[in-house]
Amino acid sequence: MLRSCFNRYLTAMFCCVTLFGTSVSHAEQVVVYSARIEQLIKPMFDAFTKETGIAVKFVTDKEGALLARLKAEGKNTSADMLITSDAGNLWEAAREGLLRPIESKTLEANIPAYLRDPQNQWFGLSVRARTIIYNTQKVKPADLSTYEALADPKWKERLCLRTSKKVYNQSLVAMMIAELGEAKTEQIVKGWVANLATDPLSDETKAMEFVAAGKCDVTLANTYYYGRLMEKNPSLPLAIFWPNQASNGVHVNISGAGVTRHAHNVPAAIKLLEFLSSEKAQNLFADVNMEYPANPKVKTAPAVAAWGSFKQNPINVTTAGELQAEAVKLMDRAGYR
Ligand code: FE
Repeated sequence: MLRSCFNRYLTAMFCCVTLFGTSVSHAEQVVVYSARIEQLIKPMFDAFTKETGIAVKFVTDKEGALLARLKAEGKNTSADMLITSDAGNLWEAAREGLLRPIESKTLEANIPAYLRDPQNQWFGLSVRARTIIYNTQKVKPADLSTYEALADPKWKERLCLRTSKKVYNQSLVAMMIAELGEAKTEQIVKGWVANLATDPLSDETKAMEFVAAGKCDVTLANTYYYGRLMEKNPSLPLAIFWPNQASNGVHVNISGAGVTRHAHNVPAAIKLLEFLSSEKAQNLFADVNMEYPANPKVKTAPAVAAWGSFKQNPINVTTAGELQAEAVKLMDRAGYR
């Protein structure tokens, strides 16, 4: 529907422009379904159109709604590309057959292997780090070490967590299952639950506000939420601790994209994906949401780099999807709601 309307619009434009004798034979478009909101994506699309002449039409919605829509539309979808956060969501889209493998030397060169699907159905475009956030008046960095150590009884009634219903902690637990095994991970998650100061909270901004207010001392959050909160309230007694630096590294996830199974314009969609991975667009993609560029040749924004450098866990982010169902079951068994 979207495509046919737009085609009609293009045709109308073509007729008019032809009347004036100008060729618009390069008028092409890519249609994107995006779980990233307009203000995070439009600047890059505008830059892409400026460079290539290819128009980008986009629809934004929650990832669940976009996946359902892609599934329902099947072959008739207008979408050439899906953009969403979390490898778990992209893995699910690939598992549902909504994406297609693509070959691109540019993407393979720009995006490290651990941040993309081994079958090349999706590619990470920005990195999100999941860290420990602590109250600087109540906790010393020396008290902290790993995600696992937050299960220690010394944190009893001092931990706040976001609900297990959100994919971020599901992905973290999935990675822990891969690295520590199921039994050990279950023990740790039970320990977290035993240490909770409050019921799990709806979002991580709220969890950090609880930490700042002294209702608990530590929480887990993606760093961009910390960045947004501190921008609004620079005096909050909160700081980032980079966990697992002596072992496997900080749990990272991605925002990323793939070309849809039923894309109408595969070459243009690949071109857009390559552009988004390029040095030119990577800062636009990452900085606007205070994330880290996925392309290692690109420098992190100064405001984000100021939080310090850290070792990332190099386990392939696909694991978050592969073990997501097991993670959800494990969290349920452990009483993490
Ligand atoms: Fe988020």
